[in-house]
Amino acid sequence: MPKEKYNPYNNFLKVMDNAAQIMGMQPDEYVTLRYPERELKVSVPVKMDDGSVKVFEGFRVQHSTLLGPGKGGIRFHEHVDIDDVKALAGMMSFKCAVVGIPYGGAKGGVAVDPKTLSRSELERVTRRYTTAIIPIIGPQKDVPAPDVGSNAQMMDWIMDTYSTNIGYPVHGVVTGKSIEVGGSLGRNEATGRGIMIITRQILSARQKPVKDAKIAVQGMGNVGSISALLLAEEGATIVAVSDVSGGVYSSTGLNIPEITAFIDGGKRPLTEYSAPGVTHISNEELIASDCEILIPAAMENQITAANAKNIKAKIIVEGANGPTTKEADEILTKRGVTIVPDILANAGGVTVSYCEWVQNIQAVLWDISNVNDFLAKILNKAFDEVYAASLQFGCSLRNAAYIVALKRMSTAHRLRGIFP
Ligand code: NAD
Repeated sequence: MPKEKYNPYNNFLKVMDNAAQIMGMQPDEYVTLRYPERELKVSVPVKMDDGSVKVFEGFRVQHSTLLGPGKGGIRFHEHVDIDDVKALAGMMSFKCAVVGIPYGGAKGGVAVDPKTLSRSELERVTRRYTTAIIPIIGPQKDVPAPDVGSNAQMMDWIMDTYSTNIGYPVHGVVTGKSIEVGGSLGRNEATGRGIMIITRQILSARQKPVKDAKIAVQGMGNVGSISALLLAEEGATIVAVSDVSGGVYSSTGLNIPEITAFIDGGKRPLTEYSAPGVTHISNEELIASDCEILIPAAMENQITAANAKNIKAKIIVEGANGPTTKEADEILTKRGVTIVPDILANAGGVTVSYCEWVQNIQAVLWDISNVNDFLAKILNKAFDEVYAASLQFGCSLRNAAYIVALKRMSTAHRLRGIFP
């Protein structure tokens, strides 16, 4: 989508305004949330392996610290710009507020394609970017995490860089770390587990069991593969999955553990997978496949005005951030398709990031059942609140999720007041 026509931050503001209007909130009650609290742009000079020097642009935006320290991932992607990061930071404020964890919203990014860097170049980019944002991050200020293009190893480098600069180990400065560096059990699976919990909830609200529900999942990375695995374990029939290379389909259900082992964390493309009864499909065909539930868990803007009319699923559970364009959302809502919005559906990741941070700052260790029980409790409660708001205001689940979050933030704002 051309940037001059589409500004993701303006789109975020429209969603917020719409929710405020539906609930009858006055502009003064939430005007501060229209303006990110802090935007930092940094240059990241790095010596490449061949001796040349490249300078990358980096960003960290703290949209709101009303409910707690900023929280949000760091995206490594060649197209990252300040408007993307502002929009994603704003969505993080609403995501944390809707699930009721004491965090604000933030996001970071470096405009680089990590696949073009060697491991040592990636380490130098990560450490130099961290050094540039050290003045505004910290366990009580702003706590980064992984996002598209970043991973646990990079979070470990961030923890090490921050700690080396501060002079003592600070595990709580970043989440999504390796277990050995203070990561939490269950964090890697948390977003997919959350998708499974939320899918179970929306089906239950329609008096339908997960067992035998036909589901298609776009994206077989962290979120998509774990959602598919856990939903298959619950008895769902996963009829289609895809990665960037294309997809596979079977009307009687795919063998998800076998497929996950085959792609081996993205090392092998799905197009090379074959099994009896399995046909190869494109990503467009996956979106239009014969299923009850579609889980877009790849990238933003995958469900568009062009393909919304072809969607057969009656329920969409947004695993990715922003997978549905505004136009597609309107078309689907008119058609009676239920969309469980990203800020609720994929909040499992940030919820277990919170568990990791709590363990780090208290220097305690939780076992896996503590983590998974906490996650289920938080997400089930958030779903019930959002569902109740959608009935109360007669609105979509997306508007309802923004209403629940807006109410929580504007109440905190009223109680805290404006300094001075
Ligand atoms: P990932 O990099 O692990 O996986 C992405 C997957 O999508 C890969 O299988 C890739 O091949 C596939 N893909 C990429 N482009 C595609 C395309 N055009 N069509 C089809 N498939 C495509 O990423 P992830 O961590 O699973 O994140 C996926 C989405 O979920 C992102 O929007 C991310 O912001 C969001 N999200 C992730 C988490 C998390 O904890 N990982 C939490 C919340 C939200």
